[in-house]
Amino acid sequence: MTSSVSSSSTATVAPEAGHNDLWLDVLKKLESKLQRGAFITWFRDTTILGREEGKIIIGLPLTTVMNWHLERYQSLTLEALKEVDSAISQVVYKVDGGLKDNRERTVNLLEHFPEQKKRKLPNKHEVKMAEGVTSKILNPRYLIDNFVVGANNRLAQAACSAVATSPGGKYNPLFLYGGVGLGKTHLLQGTGNAILQKNSKATVVYTTSEDFTNQVVEAIRMQKMEQLRKRYRQVDVLIIDDIQFLANKERTQEEFFHTFNALYEAGKQIIISSDRPPDELQLEDRLVSRFERGMIADVSEPDYETRLAILQEKAAEYELFIDLSVLQFIAEHTTKNVRELEGILMQAVAQYELEQRMPTIKSIAEIMRKLNKDPHLQEEEVGFETPEKKRSTLQDVMELVSKYYSVSIDDLVGKSRVREVLMPRQIAMFIGKKHLSVSFVRLGEAFGNRDHTTVMNACEKIERSMQSDHNVLREVHTLTTELGLR
Ligand code: ADP
Ligand code: MG
Repeated sequence: MTSSVSSSSTATVAPEAGHNDLWLDVLKKLESKLQRGAFITWFRDTTILGREEGKIIIGLPLTTVMNWHLERYQSLTLEALKEVDSAISQVVYKVDGGLKDNRERTVNLLEHFPEQKKRKLPNKHEVKMAEGVTSKILNPRYLIDNFVVGANNRLAQAACSAVATSPGGKYNPLFLYGGVGLGKTHLLQGTGNAILQKNSKATVVYTTSEDFTNQVVEAIRMQKMEQLRKRYRQVDVLIIDDIQFLANKERTQEEFFHTFNALYEAGKQIIISSDRPPDELQLEDRLVSRFERGMIADVSEPDYETRLAILQEKAAEYELFIDLSVLQFIAEHTTKNVRELEGILMQAVAQYELEQRMPTIKSIAEIMRKLNKDPHLQEEEVGFETPEKKRSTLQDVMELVSKYYSVSIDDLVGKSRVREVLMPRQIAMFIGKKHLSVSFVRLGEAFGNRDHTTVMNACEKIERSMQSDHNVLREVHTLTTELGLR
């Protein structure tokens, strides 16, 4: 590498003002390559302190920040610098405490890089796996490798690893069960991802029992049951999430039974998850006994050490720099549901992006209190005051949602169904219902005289999205926190 390190350069540095434009150009390049959270966290309070021919001296506010740059961003930064000015050949760092929060000397990132209001669509799309067979797209972030193993999930993780190594082998079917938010979907999709990684030609189908039911219903309606059966015979690995929802759906159970047998006999791998063990499922006995033939593993609530390890893993994944003591505080005081654990972390990120506040024990305690995650958390314990706030109204909700997503109020109550407008509208309705207890009928009126069933559907949709999509969960949390509704 052509770059070197210098934390205490003695070189005479030119006043940074002259390099502001260069740095801004470089930041623009970097911003397009990094996750927003990471970009804001690591490039705020930075500047070019000086230049000596081809060598650029970058000023950073803290040693920890410098370490991070050295580890992760040095070559990326050099590359961006070279793109802007090909004469540049080297980048060195210097810590300058005076840069912290100094808007005169550094580029104001939030001003120059306002948050893009265009939301990324949730990863809900389907992919075609074989003729007539579709699968939900697997979330690439769900891997067996980034699944943190603890006493609560050791067996389940080991079974998934074994299945990933030899699908259709001795752990067939693999049946995972446990409460919500404990990592079943992560493991199922991680196993699918691992199988595909080894063999990209494998037909791996990941579906939910809801989806499977819809396909059966559709096939019955179109009198194409035979085709559906045939299609599923092409599958190498069938993953069905949340099988408990097949309860009371006799016809779907019957179809699933046949598909199951056909695949099983052909040596194809079947992986199933459920919120309870097989014998507690309200499913046909013959299905239950099929499940019991294979490997059954549970996932339960993680202990303190596992919670802490999960938080560390997630913080690293999102490139968040959070003090260990803060993570320890979350792990100690919080819920055992991993999804909620992650929610708190996401909330901290959102707050950071919004207010540029590095998460501290105090701010986390505040978030947790608002999320109502630990009613026993005493205020004195962390010493913050509760501000007196007037109760938010539906008008406040609409105004904040409008501002947050850059969608006008007219659009929110208007007819447009483009996604950029539809999603914020549904979120506003959801908050109105869930947090202000406004009736469906009244919400319909407030949102351009819509029918109350439209509002009901919107609320259900958001509720579901919050379960499966971090972004939605985080945005709703940010909005309700801003509104003082948590
Ligand atoms: P379930 O399907 O059991 O309701 P999920 O698989 O959706 O739970 O998990 C909820 C969230 O918690 C996901 O973001 C997942 O990545 C995370 N998670 C749960 N357990 C772990 C773990 N042991 N290691 C890493 N992440 C985990
Ligand atoms: Mg799940």
